[in-house]
Amino acid sequence: MTLPLEPTTVTYPAGAVHGTAVVVHLAPQGDGSTAVLLDSTPCHPVDAAWPDQGPDRAVIRKDGSPTRVSDCVTAATDGTQLYTGEQIPAKKGAEGWTFAVAHLVDDDGGLAEGDEVQVEVDEDYRAAISAGHTACHVASLALNQAMAHRWKKDARADGRGEPDFDGLAIDVSTIVPNGSVDTYRMGKSLRRKGFITDGVPDELAELEGAINGALASWIGSGAAVRIEREGSALTDVRYWVCELPDHTVRIPCGGTHLDSLEEVSSVRVALSIEDASGTPVLRMETTAAPA
Ligand SMILES: [Zn+2]
Repeated sequence: MTLPLEPTTVTYPAGAVHGTAVVVHLAPQGDGSTAVLLDSTPCHPVDAAWPDQGPDRAVIRKDGSPTRVSDCVTAATDGTQLYTGEQIPAKKGAEGWTFAVAHLVDDDGGLAEGDEVQVEVDEDYRAAISAGHTACHVASLALNQAMAHRWKKDARADGRGEPDFDGLAIDVSTIVPNGSVDTYRMGKSLRRKGFITDGVPDELAELEGAINGALASWIGSGAAVRIEREGSALTDVRYWVCELPDHTVRIPCGGTHLDSLEEVSSVRVALSIEDASGTPVLRMETTAAPA
């Protein structure tokens, strides 16, 4: 079998929630579902390597009749076999591999290769997830600023020039509707990089106050947000760009976002400490209130 695949063109980075597409491949999966590959899609797939933003909710419509997308993941082929999600053995962009968006459907709804279809994404859910993802990024920048005094060595800098606590300590990041939950491991490897973990639990209220203060001023600025990308294919590198008052920040990101911080009335965080087998883990819950 040879798969004559092109990388999927993705339109969600620019905010699209509707699109017309052609079915390029149907791949039955072991669990009875079918992976539907389209030439282009507005449907955000969960990324296998960094699954912070989950799949969009969507339907694929052929001649008006809808087929529900039960999951949306990345897929990849070396030309002989199609792998989906966590089964993909290659790194994104690896030579000889083509990456695509796989829309998983429980019942193929009579779809056939070559069909022209409409893809419709649940707009309200997407909007809430985009608000959550933008809030997650601005909160991470505010967290880095609040933690800046705790570094005794030069650390990698974030987009505002502060030591990148978020990038160096992040364990799991989960985008939820109108928010995110991020956990940060403050163990040996972070200490070796020069971070002072002592006293963080006693400082949580001050840290929270500093983060929420910075967030209030940034949200008040109504900064513009956009996605910059090097191309329209799934694997082309994309950046989240936010024009904060003191810096225009660029962060590599494959997700979906607001167009402006004006679309939320506030972003606030709550911090807590958990213990993971002796390693303190900082948990930051971020909540965005729609404007
Ligand atoms: Zn992101």
